[in-house]
Amino acid sequence: MKRDKRFLPAAIAALTLTLTGQALAQTQSQIHRDAATRNVGNDTFLRDNAQAFYCNLPDNNNAIVLAARATNSIRVPLTQIFDDVWIVGSRYVAQYLIKTADGFVMVDAGNNAAEVQTYNYPALQSLGLSPSYPLKEIFLTHGHGDHDGGASWLLANLNARSWLGSADAGNKAYAPKLIDSNNLSPQKVSIGGKEFTVLATPGHTPGSTSAVLTVKDKGKDVRVLINGGQSMTSSVPQVAQYLDSIERTYTLAKALNVEGVMTPHIYWDGTVNKVDDIIAKGRGTQSQFVFGQEGVLRQLAVARECSAAWLTRLDASRQLPTWRFNTLEVVDASNVNLISAKLSNGWNDVAGKQVRFTFEDSSAGCTSATNNEGVATCASPGFAGRRFTAEFVGKTDNQFVDLPAAAQGTTPEFGGDGGGGGGCTIGDGRFDPMLAGLAILALFGIVRRRRGRARA
Ligand SMILES: [Zn+2]
Repeated sequence: MKRDKRFLPAAIAALTLTLTGQALAQTQSQIHRDAATRNVGNDTFLRDNAQAFYCNLPDNNNAIVLAARATNSIRVPLTQIFDDVWIVGSRYVAQYLIKTADGFVMVDAGNNAAEVQTYNYPALQSLGLSPSYPLKEIFLTHGHGDHDGGASWLLANLNARSWLGSADAGNKAYAPKLIDSNNLSPQKVSIGGKEFTVLATPGHTPGSTSAVLTVKDKGKDVRVLINGGQSMTSSVPQVAQYLDSIERTYTLAKALNVEGVMTPHIYWDGTVNKVDDIIAKGRGTQSQFVFGQEGVLRQLAVARECSAAWLTRLDASRQLPTWRFNTLEVVDASNVNLISAKLSNGWNDVAGKQVRFTFEDSSAGCTSATNNEGVATCASPGFAGRRFTAEFVGKTDNQFVDLPAAAQGTTPEFGGDGGGGGGCTIGDGRFDPMLAGLAILALFGIVRRRRGRARA
């Protein structure tokens, strides 16, 4: 994502009002740290885990990371988390064993040879490892020893292959297949016959790689994200890379409708608690590893703001727009011929945003601005009992990146008299190309004018 170097005067951007109404200057770092908290919403699990760890440096709370490291000797028993995926490892760093049609794919390779020989090899055997069902390939998230320490043993003794980001591949005792760390676009790679959409995410290390893959959850396809490298360094260029990597991960996760996370450092986002829950109660109807798309994207928006807080702490001259996580929910309209959706964010800055309503199996649509409560309303006569989508397309200026949000609903079955009172009327389902064309031209004109002003 390109960031505009120009910004509103810092005096405006850095001002906030306290409850007493007194103006209080916030540093850029404080603004982003505060934004991470606002992006958490009401999700206490996200606050206590992902936010606490992603923000540990700007929060001056490295103690939680040190405490987590001490759990590297506490084992996580082999546990099934999806139809085709098992987790094994320690409470500090875990590996994922994935079953494919003709063999295993592994994510990360443990701390060392003794560990994988003692735990991972028997785990694979118990799941059916054989000459005709071998460990085919290992996806290494990065080149640190707690992720690839057992790779040499697995490659030499189980005749497997491994994949590693090219920038981490120097001076390795094993010869990995390389993922190009300089290509920052998502790439489809077949790893052990399974399709991984890999994304170079440098920052934690130069060769850190993330990936999205499809797994089966009670027979249903679910896309999950594997985070490659999560803690930040104190080097400004590396943290800037890390921030960019999180922004690209967000874009990928949104585009691919990612709903779950398989993170190697399972304490980082609270996954270790999910494993405990599976061990205690069994897998839920939906695996505990599924956060839902909103959960995954919210977590990445929090991580982005924690990263921005750290980067602007290290380099106070940087100005970064704040990412604001938005949600949209369909709300009951007072009139059967009206449809409404309510926009929310942690800033309660929700008035005057454009929400677009579209109907399933129809080219008709309507765009309406939110009121002071964040509610946008459209009249919908003739659309009784129809599925519709409400969408806030997002908005970017020099101070804020308002992330897009969408919601689905169904109009009431009964459509009586004409609506009235809505932000606009859609008509009876017929699409008027001339009116639509004029509307698009008008919108385009507004966008162009806004861009023109921004450049001025
Ligand atoms: Zn590492």
